[in-house]
Amino acid sequence: MVKADAQENNPSPVRTWYREAVVETFSAFSTTERGLDMVEVVKRLKQYGPNCLPAAKTLSFFRIFINQFLNPLIYILLIASIVVFFLGEITDAIVIVSVLIINAVIGVIQEGKAQNTLLALENFTKTEAVALRNGVEEVIGDQEIVPGDVIVLREGDKVPADARLFELKNLQIDESALTGESTPVSKNIDVIEKKTDNPADQLNMVFRGSLVVSGAARAVVVATGVSTVIGGISRKMVTINTDIPLNKSIQSLSKFIGVGVLLISASVFGLGILYGNSAGDMFFTAVAVAVSLVPEGLPVVITLVLSIGAYRMAKQNALVKNLGAVEALGQASVIAVDKTGTITKNELMVEGLYIDGKTYEVTGNGYESKGNILLDGAALDPANHPEILFAGKIATFCANARVSFHEKEQLWKVSGDPTEAALLVFGEKAGFHKDELEQEERQVSDLPFTSDTKYHATVHMVNKKSFLSVVGAPENILALSNKIWNGSKTPRKLSDTHKAEIEAAVQTMSSRGLRVVAFSYIPNYKEELGVAPIQNAVFIGFFAMRDVLREGVRESIEIARANGVRVVMITGDHRFTAKAIAREAGIFREGDEIITGKELKTMTKAELVVHLNRVSVFARVTPESKLDIIELLRANGDIVGMTGDGVNDALSLVAADLGIAMGKVGTEVSKEAADIVLLDDNFRSVTLAIEEGRNIYHGIKKVILYLFSTGLGELLTVVIAMVVFLPLPLLPTQILWLNLVTDGFLVAALAFEPKEKLRNRIVKKGNRFFFDRLAILRTLTMGLVMASVTLFVFSIALKTDAAKAYTLSLTVLAAMQWWNAWNVRSEKKSIWSKKMWTNPYLVVATVIVIGLQLFAIYNPIMQKLLNTTALSLTELGAAVMISLSIVFVEELRKLLRIAFHGKK
Ligand code: ADP
Ligand code: MG
Repeated sequence: MVKADAQENNPSPVRTWYREAVVETFSAFSTTERGLDMVEVVKRLKQYGPNCLPAAKTLSFFRIFINQFLNPLIYILLIASIVVFFLGEITDAIVIVSVLIINAVIGVIQEGKAQNTLLALENFTKTEAVALRNGVEEVIGDQEIVPGDVIVLREGDKVPADARLFELKNLQIDESALTGESTPVSKNIDVIEKKTDNPADQLNMVFRGSLVVSGAARAVVVATGVSTVIGGISRKMVTINTDIPLNKSIQSLSKFIGVGVLLISASVFGLGILYGNSAGDMFFTAVAVAVSLVPEGLPVVITLVLSIGAYRMAKQNALVKNLGAVEALGQASVIAVDKTGTITKNELMVEGLYIDGKTYEVTGNGYESKGNILLDGAALDPANHPEILFAGKIATFCANARVSFHEKEQLWKVSGDPTEAALLVFGEKAGFHKDELEQEERQVSDLPFTSDTKYHATVHMVNKKSFLSVVGAPENILALSNKIWNGSKTPRKLSDTHKAEIEAAVQTMSSRGLRVVAFSYIPNYKEELGVAPIQNAVFIGFFAMRDVLREGVRESIEIARANGVRVVMITGDHRFTAKAIAREAGIFREGDEIITGKELKTMTKAELVVHLNRVSVFARVTPESKLDIIELLRANGDIVGMTGDGVNDALSLVAADLGIAMGKVGTEVSKEAADIVLLDDNFRSVTLAIEEGRNIYHGIKKVILYLFSTGLGELLTVVIAMVVFLPLPLLPTQILWLNLVTDGFLVAALAFEPKEKLRNRIVKKGNRFFFDRLAILRTLTMGLVMASVTLFVFSIALKTDAAKAYTLSLTVLAAMQWWNAWNVRSEKKSIWSKKMWTNPYLVVATVIVIGLQLFAIYNPIMQKLLNTTALSLTELGAAVMISLSIVFVEELRKLLRIAFHGKK
């Protein structure tokens, strides 16, 4: 059904490519197996447009505006306005309605801002694809794919467009995004006779948005962008989903508060009647009290705080896929990082070669193919050294990666595994070119590297015989070898002495932080690859590759540690390599422990728990044990963030509280599974993101504290007045004014509070709900101070001028709310010590609300609506002075805190 729909909108004539031979597709798109040339690509890009899906439509302004009213609280207010209208209080009804409209306008501004940041974030999520252009593989943005392009697919890639397969090896595709079927589909290139609309049945096609689980393939693109199957689906989805889990939990919190508020306002109503007020008045007051207590702006403010945080993180190269994760990140106590790519650059270069007891040195610069092979300091000509030729050939055979230099960015890009890219470059230094070599000595089959087997084997036709080459982790390669090559025709038996010698050499190299990849061969291989285990191979030697630390990693790890976040390294690499690198990065320190994957399997749970807090490196682990490690840490009570890049990391990324994927080297699958994607693959971004997360947590906390303390202030003012038989000092319209207008601006400004130092921002365990003892204490004191000061002013003024008394109490309460917004900025620091201009929004908001208050006092229409009268300058000054008492109380608390707890 989906397919049929996509075809209706397909600009090119509808053809069922899966039912025709591949040649038909090639000729229909006037292309060949070598792909298109750039001239043609540019032309087609113009003709068909970029290969992207329509940007998610945002909600219209009107829609957002209407949404502001879809809130149970607003319903109550609307009903209230209708009731008071019929009670004859027409001005009051008008006030409520206009306040609601002002509130909605503020909401629209806030939400619009949040949506814009979300949209900006979407622009970061572009992925890359590999296409053949004029026979050469190029890594390009997936938007640049056009119909007729030949795309190259490898394990972990995301399929960039709909395409007809024409060449493949063990290709398995996860099409769940399209079909909902989660088991991977094995593809082939055979023509399908039967007509079918279901993409799942079109086994010789691949579709945009699906993922390559294993194998490799080439295919010719038949549809891009909106013409693809998934494009057809996505056109139907018009809005972005801004539903955030955290947002939801806040909403349910609001509901809970709602019930509480209903009870409280019902009691206020009852109490008011009991104390002799009229039912009409009390109904309105109860509604107003309810309004003052419910933090109606909270969900929007939280979305705003989160998306501002997400945006700041994106600027630090951490793309947040799940907004709630931002806040979760602030609470991470352990970050489990991959060594390769995160701690190190993952730009490998072969630096050493060990064959037959001799150690060769290899020079060069990264992926550049220039460089020499030296023995005892002298450069040698590979042509005269059969062992180098041998090593070079096997390296080339086993290198399924490509490197290409990008003129524009002046950097080398790798498609495929960097370990294999290093092998490819080494092969070039030894005089081999993969394409030329494989034209003569064709590849027959290939068994790609997996972290389980820890080797990569491949079979080529060499001298009409099946020649197996295998490269991989030294112990695995040694395990499948029983002979050793020594330059003669007949290899010798691999003795225990040989093994000990090789292991010692491996250890020397690994202790220097080098990654060791050993290699063996079988000259006449008769088995089918992947069916029977490889055995009786001839061991040749190993390559030693250097991977350097990323810049800034050391410092970031130090910062993380100083702030109570433990960093543990997980790697498939050798124990000694891992230790050397972990020490260099500052992850491993004397006294720490290293656990290997094997030990992990044999230790009991109880033993593991004993060691867990001291382990900083997990070496030689497989992806499944990664999952075990994550679960162990979580069971230990830690909140665990984990980085990953491979297909097989997906599970652990989901299992961790917070999955962090690598944007550059990471496979699409891992990015899909993660909550956060590091665009620059740098660990430093994780530290920055933690900082941001903590900041967000504290930001939300400030807003909540503000909302609840002012709400309580208003409630207590009304309740205490009733109990002591004062007339109600706040008229209902005034409460609404204070709550929806004054609060609205200040809260929105608080959302923009700047970042604080990570050091002060540690989130205590189990403190997930924004309210700790201190926050409760502060809410109560501030509420009490607001109520008593307001009532004090009101009762004194009442004796001389009743009309002014209302205006004065309103002004005092409003002013206390202004100052309170400044109070909540810091838990510990004085209001004066936090630089005022670090949050210009709050300065502006304060100026606005002061202006609004003056407007409310001096404008004749407002005077009528809010029952205010003009105050003299002295009265106004006195009101403002007395309102400063709320600052004094908070300052006193902060001072006492320092006296008792020190400055920390
Ligand atoms: P890491 O966590 O460091 O990426 P891996 O599990 O990828 O570790 O690799 C473990 C070991 O397997 C490496 O030390 C290396 O010896 C070997 N290895 C890694 N990648 C390849 C590859 N593509 N081909 C052959 N051997 C590899
Ligand atoms: Mg790896």
